[in-house]
Parts: sequence; structure tokens; C-alpha cells
Amino acid sequence: MLADRTQIFTESVIREMTRLAMQHGAINLAQGFPDFPAPDEIKEAAVAAIRADHNQYAITWGAKSLRDAISAKTLRFSGYAPDPEREITVACGATEAMMAAMLAVVNPGDEVIVFEPFYENYVPDAAISGAKLVFVPLLEPDFHFDREQLRAAFTTKTKAIVINTPNNPSGKVFSREELAYIGALAQEFDTLVITDEIYEHILYDGNTHISPATLPGMRDRTITISGLSKTFSVTGWRIGYLIAPSHLTNAIRKVHDFLTVGAPAPLQEAAAIALGFPDSFYNSLGEMYRGKREVLLSALTEAGFPVFRPQGAYYIMADIRPFGWGDDTDFARHLTAEIGVAPVPGSSFYSHQELGRTKVRFTFSKKEETLRAAAERLLKLRVGV
Ligand code: GLN
Repeated sequence: MLADRTQIFTESVIREMTRLAMQHGAINLAQGFPDFPAPDEIKEAAVAAIRADHNQYAITWGAKSLRDAISAKTLRFSGYAPDPEREITVACGATEAMMAAMLAVVNPGDEVIVFEPFYENYVPDAAISGAKLVFVPLLEPDFHFDREQLRAAFTTKTKAIVINTPNNPSGKVFSREELAYIGALAQEFDTLVITDEIYEHILYDGNTHISPATLPGMRDRTITISGLSKTFSVTGWRIGYLIAPSHLTNAIRKVHDFLTVGAPAPLQEAAAIALGFPDSFYNSLGEMYRGKREVLLSALTEAGFPVFRPQGAYYIMADIRPFGWGDDTDFARHLTAEIGVAPVPGSSFYSHQELGRTKVRFTFSKKEETLRAAAERLLKLRVGV
């Protein structure tokens, strides 16, 4: 009785690990969401919006205040101001944004290029929209791509390439040169670029975020996706957005309208205020996460994991081979049930699952005390096994 499209993907492994963590009372370093409060100002703005009766549907493609704020924020950080009337759509999180983008541009059988390791959502997004995913590996230890391999992935059937920078799960931040190379291929093969920039303000070690739409010739063929979840620690609000040329935006808005009608109206009003926070807010975010990254990096290193040092986002990929486990899922379950710290099995980020069998992903989007408690538990790995 079931549709074939539901058979080609599984439930979210990330959320399954959250359930397992709860069941075992483990510290959840699996799902990337903060366990610390959102800024007071954004919470107060939401309360005020509800009191002011922003409680009915907003305009389906986003409250005007929020679209104006997205345009101003894009001008501030990326140097161009998308037209709030024709080029911006507010969606229920970057998750809906990516789904709406794919449904709006992909015909069944079209090819979409994705780097691996990838964020798990791209697989069901492709399955639901009928896209055939073509995977190009990011090569260790620095997760660079091979230019010839990428070029070879482009065909006459390529509709789009997905770029996620800063990258979940690897922590890679794509450089200007890399993005220019990808952009040149997109122009040569006349494809779109769909970018997931949800971690755009979480950067380390002097890395800078380059938004692919800002590169020469790219604005007309780029769908830029971001949202409030990670920057403002409000992953449960489900406020994301897309910036795209108007002919694409028309199609995206239609899909979005019939998927969800709109993101929560009062939270859109609060989001409009939050996007206007001063530069100091955005800069302190990197500072805060830098400290957390150090705590988890040293905890993992001390426990015996070789680690990949992230340049951005808030995840660490760790190598599990020193512990002698042949399977990442068995190891992740053991870590959750016996050691009390839940990671995500690496294979859930790969189509060639063997590439992920040797890894797990930890998030450090947690209070320092949570990370220190996890550190203490992880030490059991070293002596215990
Ligand atoms: N983006 C977060 C992560 O990668 C949350 C994902 C989710 O809930 N599926 O952990």
C-alpha cells in the first residue's frame, strides 16, 4: 500500500540517536541543538509579538517585517540586498526550505550533485522530489574535493549542485577558490547551485563564510538557504528562508504555500528583530562556540579518538578505529548505552556507507558543563574496553 518514494530512505538516524540517548539517560551529543537558553531579547520579542496579536497566518511567503530584515541582514553580511517582494521566501526552517527548493526545480530523473559526507536530509529531499543524487567525496583529512572528480560528476542531466558551507558534519568551510571553481562548472553546464548556509555565523580560526551567490555570475543561478535556528539558538522555532532570483522564487513560494502555508507568525516578528542584532552579537557567537569546540576536542583526544578539527559549524567527526569496533552503529549504541554519551554513527552521512563506518559525529552545541560531564564519561572508554 505504500508509495515507492517512502521506501528509499529511512527515519532520521540523528533523531533516533536522540531517542536512544533519552532511553539510556545518556548525554545527547548526537542531535545538533543547544541545551542552553536562547538570547533574552529574542524571547521577549516573541512574547511581545503574541501579546500584540500576531497570531494569525502571516503572508504565506513571509511577514514583510521579516523579509525586510532578511534583505538588510544579507546586505550587511553578504553585500547585496535581495528584493523582499520578489526574491525572499520564509519557510519552516532550512529543512522545509531545502525540500521546497528541490520540489520547485527538480524533475524526476534530474541529477543533483551532493558532496559526501552530507547532511542526512538531502537524501529524502532527493527521493521525494525524484532527483537522482550523484555523490562526490570530500577527501580526508581536510575534506577537499578533487576538481576532476567534481567536473566528471556534471552531465547534461545535472540540474543542481548542493553546497553546505560551513559543512555539517565535517566542519569544512568552502574557500572562495573552491566555490569559484564550482560556480564556473555550474555556469558551463548551466545548472543551479542550492546552498545550505545555516551555520554561516559559526566560524573558527579566521575562516570566513563566502556565500556562493556573491560570486561573479552566480546570483541568477543560486538558491541560498539559511535560517534562525543555529545563529539564535532557536531550533524549535522553525524559521528558515530562501533567497533566489524571482522566477525561481515564484515556484518556490507556490510549493511552500501548499506544504506549510507559512512559518509561525509571531516567531517571524521576533526573528525580524533578532536579525537586526548588532555585529557584536554575531561575533560573540563564534567566540562562544570556539570555547566549546576546545572542550570537546580535548575530551575526545584524551579519550583516544583521532579527530577532524572543524573550521566551522558545531560538530566534530571522530575516528573510532582505535577502539577496535568494526561498525559505527554498534559503537554509537555502545557509547550511548554503556558509556552514557550519544553520538551519530558516521555511516548516516555517506552514500558509500563504508566511508562512514570508521567514524562517529559529536556535537558541541551544549553548555560547557554538559561537555565536561561527557568528557568524564568518555574517559571510561580509554581504560574500560
Ligand atoms: N541539524 C541538526 C543536526 O545535524 C539537527 C538535525 C535533525 O534534527 N535532524 O544534528
